[in-house]
Amino acid sequence: MKNIEIKDMRPKRTNLMDFDKQGLQAYFTAKGDKAFRGTQILQWIHQHGIIDFNEMSNLSKASREDLLATATVNLLEPTIDKTSVDGTRKWLFQLDDGNSIETVFIPEDGRGTLCISSQVGCALNCSFCSTGAMGFNRNLSTGEIIAQLWQANKLLGEYGKKITNVVMMGMGEPTLNYDNVLRAINIMLDDNAYGLSKYRVTLSTSGVVPRMYDLARDSNCSLAVSLHAANDELRNELVPINKKYPLEVLMTACRDFFADEPRRKVTFEYTMIAGVNDSDECANELVTLLADVPCKINLIPFNPFELSNYKCSSRNRIMRFRDRLVEAGFNTMVRKTRGQDIDAACGQLMGNFVDRTRRSEMVKKKLAGKVGN
Ligand code: SAH
Ligand code: SF4
Repeated sequence: MKNIEIKDMRPKRTNLMDFDKQGLQAYFTAKGDKAFRGTQILQWIHQHGIIDFNEMSNLSKASREDLLATATVNLLEPTIDKTSVDGTRKWLFQLDDGNSIETVFIPEDGRGTLCISSQVGCALNCSFCSTGAMGFNRNLSTGEIIAQLWQANKLLGEYGKKITNVVMMGMGEPTLNYDNVLRAINIMLDDNAYGLSKYRVTLSTSGVVPRMYDLARDSNCSLAVSLHAANDELRNELVPINKKYPLEVLMTACRDFFADEPRRKVTFEYTMIAGVNDSDECANELVTLLADVPCKINLIPFNPFELSNYKCSSRNRIMRFRDRLVEAGFNTMVRKTRGQDIDAACGQLMGNFVDRTRRSEMVKKKLAGKVGN
């Protein structure tokens, strides 16, 4: 007998997690309802953490019934939930298509930072990053990006109280998933949703210059730029997107980014890799490069991962490098390595791929080989 494929003919429900306030308002006005219904839904889902339409007490019965029939609020399934000895917590979230992404919560005195993913993998292939080593699978939807924040709030308890900062520094290059990331950031900043301060929502980019100009126009979030080298030759090697947008255009974009708010500063991230970018000469080059860019500098001790031959610079080297920058007048921090014991530190996030691109297949084989040795 022939196999008969049974198709689900029911109309697809709309995932309300995919919309920011503007999108929700448009959704309701298109139905002939009032725009403010969109604001009410935004408040229920994101401000109060309520996703059951029956509990949304200021909606009419007719509205609730309509939503029950036509809409959903899709969440992510946490399949791994690990806590580091230092309190850092990492989740592996399963997506509908079987891929997985990683989200990390870093508690500190007086604040809690959530590090969010924007893509499954990354196409940019920076030589020191495990996400890059996996290659690119797909962009996350707005719903999948913001659900990381929703879910982390729930899993941490006291919804909306513990997460004060969000950094788009997980898996992926956020500017290459621009529209979805922008909508998610809108929701983070919206007073009717998470209401996070613009100083506390940071997008990190490896330097996709045209999208930096778009972001400056479209959002007032904060910006971090992954620099890692102060000359084009070395940066081409470490951050290959530099070949397309070299340092000169990148620095102009950084100077222009906060042109309307001169008191705000771009943060530069600089991963310290032994013998590669950590010499006194590199520090001097950095001082010259950033001389006229209002900025803060974050030095990140390189986090090792399987498949990488790089090593982290010694503590002494990092301190000497920092001292040189401080002497030259730069506000410089050395980022504390957090969550290394659970592979949650910067650059250690790999997630899980379902469909095996040749690269991820190769990476997995290599990893299997290493484990076996
Ligand atoms: N794609 C974006 C955001 C994700 S990467 C970007 O590149 O900015 C977040 C930060 O982690 C970046 O500064 C990145 O350079 C850094 N990083 C990547 N791999 C790392 C590693 N192995 N050790 C330390 N930092 C790393
Ligand atoms: Fe992608 Fe950022 Fe990793 Fe580079 S550092 S491969 S841009 S995630």
